[in-house]
Amino acid sequence: MRMRVLLGLALAFSALSWSATAASDETNIVPDVWTIIHAGTLIDEPGETPKKRQTVVVRNDRIDRVVSGYKSASALDGVADARVINLKSSYVMPGLMDAHVHLGLGGDFGKGRSAEKGRDTYRLLDVQSNAAKTLDAGFTTVRNVGSYEWAVFAMRDAVKAGEMVGPRIYTAGHTVEIGTFSSMGSGACFDVTSCRKAVRRQIDMGADWIKVYVTCSGSKPCGREFAPAVFLQDELQTVIDTAASFQIPVAAHAHGTDGINKAIRAGVRSVEHGSYNNEESRQLWIDREAFYVPTLAVQDNIIRDYETAGDDMKPVMEGFMAEHPKRVAAAHEAGVQIAAGSDAGVVPHGDNANELIWYVKIGMTEAEALRSATVMNAKLLQKEDDLGTIEAGKYADIIAMDTSPLEDIEALKDIAFVMAAGQIAKNDHERE
Ligand SMILES: [Zn+2]
Repeated sequence: MRMRVLLGLALAFSALSWSATAASDETNIVPDVWTIIHAGTLIDEPGETPKKRQTVVVRNDRIDRVVSGYKSASALDGVADARVINLKSSYVMPGLMDAHVHLGLGGDFGKGRSAEKGRDTYRLLDVQSNAAKTLDAGFTTVRNVGSYEWAVFAMRDAVKAGEMVGPRIYTAGHTVEIGTFSSMGSGACFDVTSCRKAVRRQIDMGADWIKVYVTCSGSKPCGREFAPAVFLQDELQTVIDTAASFQIPVAAHAHGTDGINKAIRAGVRSVEHGSYNNEESRQLWIDREAFYVPTLAVQDNIIRDYETAGDDMKPVMEGFMAEHPKRVAAAHEAGVQIAAGSDAGVVPHGDNANELIWYVKIGMTEAEALRSATVMNAKLLQKEDDLGTIEAGKYADIIAMDTSPLEDIEALKDIAFVMAAGQIAKNDHERE
């Protein structure tokens, strides 16, 4: 019912803007674009029973309706000419979402350039190519947690305006972190006043989220199991309260137990990595209805780098390899809300599905893994009315593959069809 009211409102607003346009130029009315998808198996809501032989009707950028059986345009009320996509032998599901990416990292253009040499401009090319890889892999929405300069903001806006095809982007600005060095981003702060200023600066630039570095990186002693949070309580609370004053949620990077627990208590919406979460953390997550974004795919890097690592780092890496997967499993078993996030940028862009493969490795069912990257991420982003499932009124973010991801999660490594906001970005079956 709520959805109907919202849709009604949206239609009323668009009708207003349409009438203004029509008055000035009567010939400038754009007809609806209809696309009909015939889905052999439709996993419309991961976690629920899939449906066979369904027709998904897409009107412009949204799903208009889902009906049983394979229907042609003439059998559908109000549908004029429609492009028909044959996915009768495929598994069709909502576009995947990755809640932890860095689109500005892991590219060749911005690398090695200083700010004076125009790094930001070059970084935009990195962002664009990383976003393309992400979309090609079936990830139609990302949360970018930690920007480098402002290139991701430009990409977000261009995708939103329909000027570029890409994954839908929700982005944090520069990471809010303790420090005073001029080489750090505008998120660097060192007391209550400067932390408040740092958060407001990100909001002023248009950040959708605030990312805060509650502990150090796992490679440093201040990022390990028993290291305390590097923010003092009043500074951390200031970050969260300042963001909340603009209704902006906070994502906290935290490895050590103290940082994880302090962050949840202070009111963050999600904890990233959470490598050394304990029983208390799990209870806090549940009590505060906060989310856990595990970034387990980083384990692949640790395993890869272990052999060549120095003797000082080996025990640290062993700790992360032994504990992180185990503690994600414990959080899952305890009933913590897990939203999938891979840390792409640290791990390769386009390999985002490795995160879900890890979830199955540590004991999630395939359906639970798919749910973490769709329904749970929509909830994390507070976009349940627009994203996460295939149903009337939501954005037409739709992907398909040839084998069932419910039987073999590795099917996600071979995405055959991608639609983002009604635009077909990939279709390997085009010529069949
Ligand atoms: Zn990260």
